Amino acid sequence: MSTKVLISGASIAGPALAYWLGRYGFETTVVELAPALRGGGQAVDFRGETHLTVLERMGVLDELRALDTGGSPITFIDGRGRQLLHLPADFAGGDVEVPRGELAQVLYQRSLPRTEYLFDDSITALEETPTGIRVAFRQGAPREFDLVIGADGLHSNIRRLAFGPEEHYVRHLGYYAATWQLPNYLDLPPGSVGLNVPGGLPRSAPTTATRPGRVPSSSSPRPNSVTTAMTWHSRRR
Ligand SMILES: Cc1cc2nc3c(=O)[nH]c(=O)nc-3n(C[C@H](O)[C@H](O)[C@H](O)COP(=O)(O)OP(=O)(O)OC[C@H]3O[C@@H](n4cnc5c(N)ncnc54)[C@H](O)[C@@H]3O)c2cc1C
Repeated sequence: MSTKVLISGASIAGPALAYWLGRYGFETTVVELAPALRGGGQAVDFRGETHLTVLERMGVLDELRALDTGGSPITFIDGRGRQLLHLPADFAGGDVEVPRGELAQVLYQRSLPRTEYLFDDSITALEETPTGIRVAFRQGAPREFDLVIGADGLHSNIRRLAFGPEEHYVRHLGYYAATWQLPNYLDLPPGSVGLNVPGGLPRSAPTTATRPGRVPSSSSPRPNSVTTAMTWHSRRR
C-alpha cells in the first residue's frame, strides 16, 4: 500500500512537491483554501544550473521558456530623479522569468495526473493516531493520512495546528509591501523605477506591464496600457 500524503496549499510549493511525490509513488492529496487555483502575482525568476536542471527534470522547462517574460530592467533613483543604479533586463529577469500565476498553473497541470486536489477547503484539526494522522476538514469528511505537509504560505495553517500560534515563530520586522495595477498615464517605459529611502514613509516603484500579471519581454513593443505600482513602508528609522 502506498504512503498517503496530504499537502496544505496549492500555490508554488504545494503542486511542485505533489508532482515529485506522485512521481515516486506516493498517494498525494492537496487541499487549497481558495475555490480555484489562485492567479496573479509578479515575476518569479529562475537562475543558474540548479534551477534549470530541476525544471528540466520536472519536464516543465520548455513550457516555462515559452512563457518567459524576458525580464524587465530595474532602475533606482534618488529623490531628485537621478539614476543611482540600473539593472538590465537580462540580469533582473534571470535565465527564465515567469509570472507567478502562470508558473502555478504549469506546476498544477504537471502534478494533476497523479494528485487529488481539494479546493475550497481547509484543515481544521490534526490528531496523531497509532496508524497515521487523522485530519478534520472545514468542508469534507475526516480522513487519515501518513504524512501532512504545510505549503500554505507565510501564515501557515499547518504550522499553527502542529506547533502553536504564529507569534511564536514569526517576527515582524515592520515592513509592508503592496502591488496593484493602474493605467500607465505617465507613459513610463518598460521596467521598474525604485526610490528607496531607509526609514521613510511609502515609496513607489511603477512597473510597466503588457497585461495584468504579465511583465513585458525586452523584445515586445513598448506597452502603454497598464502599469504596476508597488509601495512599501517601513516603521524603522
Ligand atoms: C510582496 C512580495 C513580492 C514578491 N515578489 C517575488 C518575485 O518577484 N519573485 C519571486 O520569485 N518571488 C517573489 N515573492 C515570493 C513568492 O511570492 C513566494 O516565495 C512564493 O509565492 C511562495 O510560494 P508558496 O507555495 O510557498 O506559498 P504561497 O504562494 O504563499 O501559497 C500558499 C498557498 O496556501 C494557500 N492557503 C493559505 N491558507 C490555507 C489554508 N488554511 N488551507 C489551505 N490552503 C491555504 C493559499 O491560498 C496559497 O494558495 C514575493 C513575495 C512577496 C510577499
